[in-house]
Amino acid sequence: MPKKAKKTAMAQECSICAARCCKYLNIVVENPRTPEEVEYLLWHIFHGASEVYLDEDGDWSVVFHNECYHLTQDNRCMIYERRPAICRQFSSTGCHGDVFEESIREHFKTAADLIGYIKKKRPALFKRLNSHIRRMAPAVR
Ligand code: SF4
Ligand code: SF4
Repeated sequence: MPKKAKKTAMAQECSICAARCCKYLNIVVENPRTPEEVEYLLWHIFHGASEVYLDEDGDWSVVFHNECYHLTQDNRCMIYERRPAICRQFSSTGCHGDVFEESIREHFKTAADLIGYIKKKRPALFKRLNSHIRRMAPAVR
């Protein structure tokens, strides 16, 4: 289930926004506790147009940077009256808009970002992750 905006302070007008909310999917995932779960997150990062982040509330998410195919070139919704419920939850009132980035505590755009974080912040898990990293060595640089 895509996550709703958590920040509400800086609402902005949809009419002057480049439809940010129609250009990505945000899927909440489990806090990785095993090497297999870290490897699962790495698999998402390998796809290029996706990244993983940890927000200020300690929630982990995968973001897929993909535009909805109902979005027109001038950032209008072609099915506005019939748009899905998740789209209706976004509005210029309470929209994350430009403050989305501020809710991110850690941003993992590459495998090295994520492994570096695990090494620094979760040493016990990193120790268990070592054999996975050795096996995946060329892929995780
Ligand atoms: S809800 Fe927010 S991100 Fe979406 S179009 Fe409106 S202002 Fe932009
Ligand atoms: S259905 Fe419309 S409002 Fe929803 S993501 Fe697609 S273009 Fe945006």
